[in-house]
Amino acid sequence: MQKIDSDYWLIEQDRGNLTVSYRLKEIIFSEKSTFQHVMIADSYDFGRMLILDGVVQTTALDGHIYNEMISHVPLFLHKNPEKVLIIGGGDCGAAKEVTKHSVKEVHMVEIDELVVTACSKLLPEVSGNLSDPRVSFIFADGIEFAKNAELEYDVIIVDSSDPEGPAEQLFEIEFYQHLKNALKDDGILVCQSQSPLFQPNITRKTFNSFQELFAYADVYYAVVPTYPGGFWSFTIGSKSPFAISNDPLPDLGTKYFNKEIMINSFQLPEFLSEKIKY
Ligand code: SAM
Repeated sequence: MQKIDSDYWLIEQDRGNLTVSYRLKEIIFSEKSTFQHVMIADSYDFGRMLILDGVVQTTALDGHIYNEMISHVPLFLHKNPEKVLIIGGGDCGAAKEVTKHSVKEVHMVEIDELVVTACSKLLPEVSGNLSDPRVSFIFADGIEFAKNAELEYDVIIVDSSDPEGPAEQLFEIEFYQHLKNALKDDGILVCQSQSPLFQPNITRKTFNSFQELFAYADVYYAVVPTYPGGFWSFTIGSKSPFAISNDPLPDLGTKYFNKEIMINSFQLPEFLSEKIKY
């Protein structure tokens, strides 16, 4: 953090060759947990934001774009999603979107309880109402949880932070293999797979892992202004074929997601396809 005259500027760290800076109004919460430094700040253009180890994770301005796309795409591709597992997702934005569906049970496995308590109190624009009785919080390492998970989930969402620190192994094929074992035969796994523009090696590696493990694998994207470069990738895999239904989708009150966006999100711009798929 740098104070320049009367302004605070959050200068993001550890984003490789690119540094993004945000002008802040106020630091609302700042505490170190066992796993990372957790901060919530109010910024001029993005509103309130969650910052972990100096890297912005989600913001009031556009957190819904990421959370709608990581949740509604797999849930609408599944014929009858009842039991959902979320790994990570401490800001609770994905859980908020998942509970807009008529699912029966949502297990959220987050390593850091402090992220959940801070976001639920101080970032309601993203976290929403956390009192839904269908959501159970399990504060544990997603890697260890995945190793012992029984075959039972319809949809698994990996909403991780960048592949560093506690999230590093959430990008490894061994982890995806364990999650595959925890899916029902028609289950769907989705994970955030970083910037296809600036980290194409990670998106490509994730897609290659999914191709190796699953009969059906694909990559889709959304434009999330908070993340460097805007383009953000999601990798999806399933043991059974998945297809977008011809029926209209119910209106869930989303602000970014709709059926056309969902269809088009799988049509990667050529320059991104080249980086990831060929
Ligand atoms: N949408 C955000 C993005 O793409 O930058 C990230 C969402 S969320 C804040 C990421 C969460 O993953 C964090 O709360 C972090 O504590 C959690 N996390 C990191 N490593 C984990 C692990 N091994 N097991 C479970 N949760 C983990």
